[in-house]
Amino acid sequence: ARVVDASTTDEERRIEAALRPRRLAEFPGQQRVRDQLGLVLEAARRRQSPPDHVLLSGPPGLGKTTLAMIIAAELEQPMRITSGPAIQHAGDLAAVLSSLAEGEVLFLDEIHRMARPAEEMLYLAMEDFRVDVIVGKGPGATAIPLELPPFTVVGATTRAGLLPAPLRDRFGFTGHLDYYNTKDLQLILTRSAGLLEIESTPDGIHEIASRSRGTPRIANRLLRRVRDWAQVHGQHIVDEEAALAALELFDVDQQGLDRLDRAVLEALCKRFGGGPVGLSTLAVAVGEEPDTVETVAEPYLVREGYIVRTPRGRSASRMAWEHLGLTPPKPVAG
Ligand code: ADP
Repeated sequence: ARVVDASTTDEERRIEAALRPRRLAEFPGQQRVRDQLGLVLEAARRRQSPPDHVLLSGPPGLGKTTLAMIIAAELEQPMRITSGPAIQHAGDLAAVLSSLAEGEVLFLDEIHRMARPAEEMLYLAMEDFRVDVIVGKGPGATAIPLELPPFTVVGATTRAGLLPAPLRDRFGFTGHLDYYNTKDLQLILTRSAGLLEIESTPDGIHEIASRSRGTPRIANRLLRRVRDWAQVHGQHIVDEEAALAALELFDVDQQGLDRLDRAVLEALCKRFGGGPVGLSTLAVAVGEEPDTVETVAEPYLVREGYIVRTPRGRSASRMAWEHLGLTPPKPVAG
């Protein structure tokens, strides 16, 4: 597994759960989303009614699940968790919806991956707090409307663009999470180090923060690897030396790019002369699924200016060539 992969495993989920901030006020970064969400929740509290449904979008590992849990905690409501891939039939969703208590928060992770009939059921339920339960089969089947108590859906997606418009429109509030700056990641890491009882120096924390590709999940993971390095080398403090050595060992370079990122840039520059090249061709060249390249590697490479997306495909910027120590063959963008 890549040390800077933003997806996660079961064991890691347990550690992550311990590191999640519980309240909005403890959540560093994403200030705009935090302020907007704070207002929405406070207004709902004063009205004593559930807030609008909330959609959280953004790359993996930036805090969507954490924020969903915070929403439930701030509303002092229980939270039910399910995900798009777990809902393959409208019946799966009907079962969840019909068991919700008044005011409950329903967290739907990867909501863009829900089956189409369930999507339709969901947006009717979000709008009218009602589902039609189909009883029987064939010509004798009848739809029995079932009233639901008001509840709040918190949807999370890495691909907001894939949601059908009628579903997207049912969310009264959409928060887009963006990559964190180094300062916010330092706050997150300092807090995590405290919770994990890891001794650290500001230099060590800074080094990890600046190589975590703006992602708290990756920052927390790198912190644990640097701690491992420090322990094995008989020093019990996460300092700059430990951070530099461990990050080199795990192939995370100074800009936080890892092997996949560099493979993408190398393919783009060396095999395709800097592009433009289509996403799927690029994915084949690095031996990955197009979806992995598109949701894991590309957003960060684009944001940092290594890759430019054009209508004709992906192109390498001057930065990409320079990062690989190569000279661009012709004038390039950026
Ligand atoms: P997502 O649902 O967007 O993939 P998560 O909410 O599961 O991301 O966050 C991944 C990990 O990063 C969790 O362990 C969480 O504690 C940590 N994390 C995310 N955002 C923050 C933040 N703003 N402050 C502190 N920790 C964070």
